[in-house]
Amino acid sequence: MSETKVTVLVAVGTLLQMASFQGVTLQDKFLGLAAATALLIWVGWRYAGGKGYHGAWGLLGSIGIIGFVILYLFPKKGRLNREAVVPTKPAPARNIHAKCPQCSAPYNPTDYQVDAQAIYCSECKAELPRTPAS
Ligand SMILES: [Zn+2]
Repeated sequence: MSETKVTVLVAVGTLLQMASFQGVTLQDKFLGLAAATALLIWVGWRYAGGKGYHGAWGLLGSIGIIGFVILYLFPKKGRLNREAVVPTKPAPARNIHAKCPQCSAPYNPTDYQVDAQAIYCSECKAELPRTPAS
C-alpha cells in the first residue's frame, strides 16, 4: 500500500473516529468508533506489514494519527537491510611478514582492499604480489 493511500485512509479513519463522538445515541458512538478503529487497525496492519514488521504493530493505528506517526518513524525493514545489519567478520590476518620484492619493506596484504586492481608498496611504490611466497 502506498504512503499516499495510507495517509488518505488514516485521515478518513480519524475523521470517522472524531465524528463518532458526535453520535446522538451511545450505540451510534460505539458503532462509529468501532468502524473507525477497525479501519485504522486494518490500515496500520497493512502499513506495518509493508515495512517488514509484524502486522500486530498495526494495532498502534487504533489510537489514530499518533499511532501512525509512530509507525511512520519505524525504520523500514527488508531483506536487504537485515543482511546489512549482520556484522562482517574481519579478514583473518595472514602474510603479515610479507616483504616488498623491491625494497624489502614489510607489508601486510590484508591491509589492502580486496577489490583493488593492484597493490603497491608504501615505501617504494613498486607493485606488490598479493600472495607472496613466504
Ligand atoms: Zn618497496
